[in-house]
Amino acid sequence: MPSFEEFVAEIRPLWDTRWLSNRGALHRRLESELGTRFQTSNIALFSNGHLALEAIIEAFELTGEVITTPFTFASTSHALVRKGLTPVFADIREEDFTLDPASIEALITPRTTAILPVHVYGNLCDVDEIQRIADQHGLKVIYDAAHSFGVTRNGRSSAMFGDASMFSFHATKVFHTIEGGAAVVKDPQLVERLYELQNFGITGPESISTVGGNAKLNELAAAMGLCNLRMLDDEIARRKTAYDTYRDRLDGVAGLYIPSIGEGVVHNYPYLPVQINPKRFGANRDEVFAALAVNGVGARKYFAPLVSEFDAYEGRFDPADTPIALRISREILALPLYANLSVEDVNYICDALLAAGVRQQ
Ligand SMILES: *Cc1c(COP(=O)(O)O)cnc(C)c1O
Repeated sequence: MPSFEEFVAEIRPLWDTRWLSNRGALHRRLESELGTRFQTSNIALFSNGHLALEAIIEAFELTGEVITTPFTFASTSHALVRKGLTPVFADIREEDFTLDPASIEALITPRTTAILPVHVYGNLCDVDEIQRIADQHGLKVIYDAAHSFGVTRNGRSSAMFGDASMFSFHATKVFHTIEGGAAVVKDPQLVERLYELQNFGITGPESISTVGGNAKLNELAAAMGLCNLRMLDDEIARRKTAYDTYRDRLDGVAGLYIPSIGEGVVHNYPYLPVQINPKRFGANRDEVFAALAVNGVGARKYFAPLVSEFDAYEGRFDPADTPIALRISREILALPLYANLSVEDVNYICDALLAAGVRQQ
């Protein structure tokens, strides 16, 4: 969070203008500053990432089946189901946990209309191969880019891949507006369409063009975003210091795996996912989780269960269809990672984690 004084200075003008929502001045400033980060002005800001994703799906008028990953947050597939589409789960890659292009192709049917991959933990998907498959089969590509704010590959923003990307600005993300999100689209014509969908389909004082919902970003949220953008580079640099310490301590330990950052990638260090091979490490994920908890360390089983195992989807999917995702969801643990995490605390966490492996042997 910014300092209280900085936030108050940013919202002070609202007490003069009394303009609190509906694309106010702060909304427009944030949109323009995000345009610089995203390398495009084709942006619509939303009240949250999930509704941005639902609006993208509506704007493309998708039908039928969409190929996606079960190794993600509930939002990804919920957006599809809530818009009347059928998620079809492809498996993920061992090395970076993103959707495996090799497993996409076999699942394409005449009903498939799009691919919805996730840049999970900020790791960019194999965007070139996914695009090749999509082009060959005439499918849209929509990225759940909620984890990848600020990530670039060879200087290109993570917002620039596929037909559209959804970003989340939830308070738990690297960049946030308390609650908020964005849809970034390749086709500039879609931006106004997205704004109509998030504002009841209103196109003028006396015209309602579509049955839209309400998903507008308010001015106080935009103000929080403007403040946080100023701190973003510092936030990421401090996360990197903690991240590098984790890697120094955990790389090369038998049975532990942390995906590496790809060639030419500038990362944003949103999470510290470590995959624990129980046989080689000497303790399984749940034992490590418990040992950390005893030491006062709050790790998260992120992502477990798989989406295809949710009670909400009971009987609809077989988690065994994506065996790699299923195994990784049993072996993955997200360790604490945030800007204020000190090197001493990272060392404390690593000591507790490594001791858990030794103790079980
Ligand atoms: C946070 C998140 C979302 C949802 O974003 P909200 O802004 O909370 O609606 C969607 N997908 C993933 C992968 C996320 O981490």
